[in-house]
Parts: sequence; structure tokens; C-alpha cells
Amino acid sequence: MPKVPKATSPKPKDKAQGSSGRESLKAKKQRAQRILAVMEQLYPQAATELQHKNPFELLIATVLSAQATDASVNKATPALFQRYPDAFALAQATPEEVEPYIKTIGLYRSKARNIVLLARRLVEQHGGEVPVDKAKLRALPGVGWKTATVVLGAAFGVPGIAVDTHLTRLAARLGLSAQKDPEKIGGDLERLFPKEKWVFVHHALILFGRYRCTARKPQCPGCPLYDDCLSQGAW
Ligand code: SF4
Repeated sequence: MPKVPKATSPKPKDKAQGSSGRESLKAKKQRAQRILAVMEQLYPQAATELQHKNPFELLIATVLSAQATDASVNKATPALFQRYPDAFALAQATPEEVEPYIKTIGLYRSKARNIVLLARRLVEQHGGEVPVDKAKLRALPGVGWKTATVVLGAAFGVPGIAVDTHLTRLAARLGLSAQKDPEKIGGDLERLFPKEKWVFVHHALILFGRYRCTARKPQCPGCPLYDDCLSQGAW
């Protein structure tokens, strides 16, 4: 169990401030290293919670997960993938035929349209396979920077820190990035963590944000990151 932090612990920003009053990059990297060590202890097997058997299923599930919970996507995808097991099958469908399979997921109409168009594009331009290329992925319907980075990392091991709502919140609370744009936050995080850990950091921080440092009720007392968090005691 993580140790309960002492109320008198100096805040990291106090420990690491230089004469300018700002935390140095070196100090921030040292904090990131300690945060990584805690994540590796807490979530040694951190991985996406979206159920999938191959890159195609992960791509579709990730598109469906936009503004929806992984749990809601996992409830819908087994029947969807049984009916449409690959890009060729899904490309033959109409959005109206797909809608009943995903109607429990938010924005299901536009998502049905996107995944059918996406499957058609995969068939027409990529032989039905998911391209291992960020620019090609981003050119697909419903696929943005975050989805492309998630799929490349989780399906192919391509290094990258995709930033979702959890990572945005964690990066701010931990004082690892002052940026608002997810792509820029990802860039800040990639400068702080070793490249071979980028995919792990993405998955581990999602789990930490989902179950510990939640949006409304972060569990600060006893938090294993307490001494390295710039928001300690703010809740
Ligand atoms: S101390 Fe609180 S705000 Fe900081 S990481 Fe832990 S739970 Fe989140």
C-alpha cells in the first residue's frame, strides 16, 4: 500500500524552484522519473481497457470510445465484430445497418457513419489493413491525432503519448504541462519520460486518472504521488 503522505511535506515546486521561481527542467524530469516508478509499481501490466483481438478491432473500438466510456464500448463491440469481423465486411454495410449494434454508445449515428466510411477507406486504400502510419491513420474518417497515437501504440508498439481527458487533467494537476491542447500536452510529456515508456505512461496515467485521481473526487490522502504533485491538498 502507498504510504500516507505527511501533511508537512514541502511541495515539489518549493523543493525544485530555481532563482527564477520556476521548476527547472531537470527537477521536472526527476519528478517524472519518480512518477513513472510509482506507475510501474501500481500498474505493471497497464494496457488499454478496450477489448480487441486485432488492430482493426482496436481502431474501430477507439473511434467508438470518443466521448463515451470504454465499458459502454466493450458492451457493444462483441456483437458488432461478430457481425462485421473485418474491414471488408464492415465496408459492405450501411450506417443504418450498423446503428443497432452501437446505439447504446453516445453519438452512435455519426459514429456508425464514420466506421463504415473508415472501413471502406481501409479496403479501397490499404488492402483492408490498418496502416502503421500516423498521417495515413489521421486521414481516415473519425480518426484524429489521439486515436491514431493510441492505435499505433497499443496495436503496433509505436512510441507516443496520446492525451485524453484523464491525461489532460493529470498533466495539469501534477504540474507536468501547462498546455491546454492535447497534442502539445503530449509533446511536453514525451520530453519528460523515456521514449520506451511512452505507451506505458499513456495507459498507466489513464488508469490512475480513472480510478484514483478522478475529476471530481481525487483521492489525495494516501496518494502515492502526493509528494510529487503540485495540486496536493487542493481537494
Ligand atoms: S495528490 Fe491528489 S491531485 Fe495529486 S495526483 Fe494524487 S490524487 Fe491527484
